Amino acid sequence: MKSISENSLLAKQNYLIPITKRPEICFVRGEGDYLYDQNDKRYLDWIQGWAVNTLGHSPQVMQKTLMHQAALLINPGPAFYNQPMLELAELLCENSKFDEVFFTNSGAEANEGAIKLARKWGQKNKQGAFKVITFDHSFHGRTLATMSATGKKTFAPLFEPKVSGFTKVAYNDLTATEAAIDDQTVAIMLELIQGEAGVIPADLAFVAGLNTLCRKHNLLLIADEVQTGIGRTGNLFAYQQFQAEPHIMTLGKGLGGGVPIAAMMIGKAVSCFDHGDQGGTYNGNPLMCAVSAAVVQEVLAEGFLNQVHRVSRYFCKQLELLTEEFELGAIRGEGLLLAINTGQFSAPSIVEHAREAGLLLNAPRDDSLRFMPALTLTEERVDEGIALLAEVLRTIQGDD
Ligand SMILES: *Cc1c(COP(=O)(O)O)cnc(C)c1O
Repeated sequence: MKSISENSLLAKQNYLIPITKRPEICFVRGEGDYLYDQNDKRYLDWIQGWAVNTLGHSPQVMQKTLMHQAALLINPGPAFYNQPMLELAELLCENSKFDEVFFTNSGAEANEGAIKLARKWGQKNKQGAFKVITFDHSFHGRTLATMSATGKKTFAPLFEPKVSGFTKVAYNDLTATEAAIDDQTVAIMLELIQGEAGVIPADLAFVAGLNTLCRKHNLLLIADEVQTGIGRTGNLFAYQQFQAEPHIMTLGKGLGGGVPIAAMMIGKAVSCFDHGDQGGTYNGNPLMCAVSAAVVQEVLAEGFLNQVHRVSRYFCKQLELLTEEFELGAIRGEGLLLAINTGQFSAPSIVEHAREAGLLLNAPRDDSLRFMPALTLTEERVDEGIALLAEVLRTIQGDD
């Protein structure tokens, strides 16, 4: 094979519809905690596909499962059962409070399904109630309905007219939430930790209050666990930690460990789709379901989640030391979905410098860094990343 010429490769970007500003590098391979670019420069990756690569880059178990399933059966079509679809459904239901699952290809599509199910349930059980309460700064996806549900201020003026029927309320404000409920309200939808907003956890009392409101007003609680699910917060699901009582949960990101699969899970009591209401060509395809089952099995293995808790505590301790040295702000989050306030430092500027130094970070806000490493992260790698980050902060300080 000819060596990859940097210029000719990156010139091809003109063939892509520009949708975001990407750095002038092209990733070629990944291995565990590391990514390698076209010049074979190595990066410690604490973005991991946006909190997606549960087991890091290209783990053996995913490679083996993909190869095995690809040789066996790739696509019988959505109108037939297949073995991985059935086995993954059982695995997810047996390890959660839910009874049934619908597989999708993205988190947004899973949330679309949740909104559709809630509306259907409202038609059947609540005189056509259809409104869904969602929260300021929330993120639920980029389809038209999920953008309409999303509480990001920058989405508000886009692609008008939006899908109607979403009422936005301040997060962690129970009084405002109750005040927003009317006869047409059918559900409350939230992230237990708002990921894209900058890793903002729900208060336990707020969640307990939502459980009560849903009982009192006969509403469905929808937990969007696309970012928090599958061990990211140290438990298999965040609803367990937050003592939430959702009727519907959506999963995505970490569920596939890097391959596109997402899911909507429900209790039997709210199961109300008639045949033909919901579907999709690739939904429940064996290739993605087999890989997802392998990933979930790893997360369920003895000791895996304990290690996530352990390394999370270690990570937080190291971040506290950084906070003291550089006068950073508070640490937020659970498990390996963490964020830190960057104090007088610009978070996007840290991200740029860190990438130069071989560390991939995300800045969800101008004043915050978010950490979403592989759940297989070790204490040793935490030290490596924190040392790089400290070096970057020192450099930026020196430049001022
Ligand atoms: C990423 C994300 C989504 C959207 O998932 P896609 O797979 O990008 O469609 C929805 N909700 C939350 C909380 C997310 O973090």
